[in-house]
Amino acid sequence: MPSDSVHVRAPGKINVYLGVGGRHDDGYHALATVFQAVSLFEDVIARPADDFSITVHGAEADSVPLDDRNLAMRAAKLLAAAADYHGGVALEIRKNVPVAGGMGGGSADAAAALVACDALWGTGFSQTRLHELAAGGGGGGGGGGGGGAGGRAPRGGGGGAARRCARPGARGGAPGRRDQLNPALARGRFDWVLVTSDEGLSTPVVYEQLDRLRDAEGALADDPAESLDVPIPVLQALRSGDAVQLAASLQNDLQAAAVHLRPDLEETIRQGVRAGALHGIVSGSGPTVALLCADADTARSVRNALQEDGRHALQVHGPVPGARILV
Ligand code: ATP
Repeated sequence: MPSDSVHVRAPGKINVYLGVGGRHDDGYHALATVFQAVSLFEDVIARPADDFSITVHGAEADSVPLDDRNLAMRAAKLLAAAADYHGGVALEIRKNVPVAGGMGGGSADAAAALVACDALWGTGFSQTRLHELAAGGGGGGGGGGGGGAGGRAPRGGGGGAARRCARPGARGGAPGRRDQLNPALARGRFDWVLVTSDEGLSTPVVYEQLDRLRDAEGALADDPAESLDVPIPVLQALRSGDAVQLAASLQNDLQAAAVHLRPDLEETIRQGVRAGALHGIVSGSGPTVALLCADADTARSVRNALQEDGRHALQVHGPVPGARILV
C-alpha cells in the first residue's frame, strides 16, 4: 500500500441494552442504549484523489450504495466542507459487518472515513470536532446502536458507550438525532457468538412494527417518555466484567418487532442457549442475533454447534477499541 494512503479499522457493535420510548409527533423515538464494540471489523482505506469516490468489497458489497447515501462518503464530504478542503478522496471499504444487520456497519464506516480523511488531509480536527461532525452526518446509531463516528472514532478507548438518542420512527427517513453520549466503563472480556442473516432488516420498518405492536397492546405509540435511563445493573455488569450478570440484564425493546418480522430469530436464540450460551438477544433492529457465552471455549463450541446446523455463526469478543489507524 502506498505510504500516502491511510488504513483505518473500526468495529461493529452489539446493543447490550436498547430501551425505546414512544413515538413522538415528529416520528422519532426516545432511546437509551448501551452498546459494546466487538471484534468484527470494517477496514476503510483512504487514498488521495481530486474527486470523491468509493469502492466496496465483501460478500454483501452489492447492497451498499456508492453515492452520497453511503455514510462513509457523507462523512468524508462533511469533513472536507468543515475543513475547507478542496480536494477529494478515494475510499475503499472492506466490509465484514453485515449490511443492515443491526450492528452499525455503516456507522463504523463513517467513523473510519472521518479518522482516515482527517489523517490523510492533515485536518488536525479535535476529537470533539470529529464527534460533532459524526453526529451531524446522520450516520448510524441505528437500531439505537451504532457508535458511528460519533460514538466510536473520537472515543477511541473501550468501544462501549451508554447514550441516549432518537431515531427515525414510523414516519422514517430522517437522520438520527442524538443528544447524549457517555462512555460506559467495561472491564474484562465478553465472549459472543453472532448469528448473521443473508437478508437485512430495515431499521425504520422495525420501528413501524414496534409501533403497531404497541398500538395493538393498547400502549399509545406516542405516549411514553421524552428520555429514558439505562438500568444500573447493565452498567454494573459491564463494569464488573461478569458475563452471567450481563446475560441477566440484556434487553432490546425492538426485539419483539424484529421477531414479528423474522420469527426464525427466536428459534436461533433458543438454539444458541441449548448449545450452551448464557443468553441471546437480537442486536439493535436485527436481524443479527448475539449470543453471550461464559467464556471463549463455550463460545467456540456454541459457534461450532450452530455452524454444524448450517447457521452462519461467528465467534467474537468485546469490548474492543474504536476506529483507529493501522500502521
Ligand atoms: P444500525 O445498527 O446502525 O441500525 P445496521 O447495521 O442495521 O445499522 P447498516 O449496515 O449500517 O445497518 O446500513 C443500513 C443501510 O444503510 C444499508 O442497507 C445501506 O443501504 C445504507 N448504507 C449507507 N452507507 C453504508 C455503508 N457504508 N455500509 C453499509 N450500508 C450503508
